[in-house]
This record gives sequence, structure tokens and C-alpha cells, in this order.
Amino acid sequence: MLQDIERYLACPLCAQDLTRHDRSLRCPSGHSFDLAKQGYVSLLAGDAHTGTGDTAGMVAARSDFLAAGHYRPIADALAEAAVAAAAATAGDRAGGPAAESGGLVADLGAGTGHYLAHVLDALPDRVGAALDISKYALRRAAKAHPRIGAVVCDAWRPLPLRDASAELMLNVFAPRNGPEIRRALRPGGTLLLVSPTARHLRELVDALGLLSVDEEKQRRIDEKLGPYLTPADRREVEFTLRLGPQDVRTVVGMGPSAWHTDPERLEASLAALPDPVEVTASVTVAAYRR
Ligand SMILES: [Zn+2]
Repeated sequence: MLQDIERYLACPLCAQDLTRHDRSLRCPSGHSFDLAKQGYVSLLAGDAHTGTGDTAGMVAARSDFLAAGHYRPIADALAEAAVAAAAATAGDRAGGPAAESGGLVADLGAGTGHYLAHVLDALPDRVGAALDISKYALRRAAKAHPRIGAVVCDAWRPLPLRDASAELMLNVFAPRNGPEIRRALRPGGTLLLVSPTARHLRELVDALGLLSVDEEKQRRIDEKLGPYLTPADRREVEFTLRLGPQDVRTVVGMGPSAWHTDPERLEASLAALPDPVEVTASVTVAAYRR
């Protein structure tokens, strides 16, 4: 529910705290944001557009793909890493102030809330903020778990989160903004970042002529986050997907290739694939601490 996370939210225009007034969130300067009846709130700055977000059709296909369990090993690895990060944070505070229950897990680029819901299942006393630019995705995220609040925002603008509000942040195949992640994380808090390795979907990259992930991706992520966060832990998760033609279309649409693939050529290449086709899924789950 949105009420669970309102105390962590900040005005996207002036960064002051937001508080609830009936069906809107307001800051002391009078900026006001109406709650959507589908259970989310849009905290976009006035001149931002959601045109770069996913369409309803893309969101539905992605939701079906994730619900079918194809990426379950990734969700499981993320939940394990989240439990480990929570234990490390609690350990840091031993002897100090008691660890606060109800701490915030913020998922940047949360999509339909699939991964955040999985993490909240593993952390029963935390609440989750699903942040995304797509309102279609967030309509689903708002219903994905009882402890999720869903917020439309732009990952490249100041995040609508108060300073040092999040104990844990998640970023799965999504844009990341190092300075804002550092600002919103508590000291000692953790960012869990899931990114594809160069082997991710390699059979489809070859067969369908998709963009490949370059070998240097992890090093470039570390360089970009380096000024703000410290790498703590990482593991690779690799498994085999068995995909029918519709699953292949979805997985292509979920990656960076979505905007660079000619639909006719894609369909012709798809017809030449075995059904089902075996495809490698390969990601890194990396933890960074503030
Ligand atoms: Zn304001």
C-alpha cells in the first residue's frame, strides 16, 4: 500500500517531505500530486513525459513471462542477497541503536514489481517502493504485494525519496543514477544490481542479430558507481531457458535490443528457430554498500 511508504517520499520539485491530504500528497510549498485510483502516485516533475516508458502490451507480455517462472533463479538469487544484506546491516548496528523494523526497500525500474515482491517475501518486516516511469507497469506493481507502494518517477531526475531513506535498493536490468542512489541510501545501506553478462541470451544474439552485451559492461558499471558506492559482493547466476516463439519475442522486447530490431526480420529469424529453443540466461548479482 502507498500508505506504507509515504513517510519516505520527497517532493520531486523541491525535495521537501510529502504528506497525505485526502487523495493527494503535498509538500509544505504547496506542490500537490493526486493519487491514481489504480493505487499508485505519479511524482514526475512537471515537464517530464512517460513516453519513454513501456506500453501496456509490452508490460502484459513481460508480466506473463515472469509469472511463468523463466527468471525464477534470478529472483531467488536476488532474495538471498537481500537477506544477506539485511543481516549485514543489522550486524553493523549491533551495540548501537536497535535496527529499525519496517525499513525501506526501493526498487529503481521496478516494472511490474515481480522482483520486489519476491524480496519482500524474504524480508517480512520491510516495506517496498516500486519506482518506474511506466504507469502501466506500476498498476501491476501496486497489486504485486501488500507491502508495495508504487511511484511513477524518472530515474534520471532526482528520485522522489528522502535523504538516507532506503536501507536496500534494487536495480534489475534498469537505468541507475549513482549520485541519487547514494543520496537515498542510508549509510551502511546496500544496492543490489542485476545486470546481464556477455553470455546472456547469446544463442538469440547470434540467431536474431540482436545487440550483444559487451565484455566490459561490469567494469564500466563499477567505474560509474565507484565514486558513490563500494563494491561488496557478487555472484554469477547462469541457467538454461526453454522458450517458445512468444517467449522469445517477449525476452527480445525486455532487452536493449527491443528498439533496434526490425520486426519483419525478427519474425523471419524466429521461424527458423527450433520450438522450444534452448537459450542461456546469465547475469551478475552485485552488492554495493554505501
Ligand atoms: Zn515541493
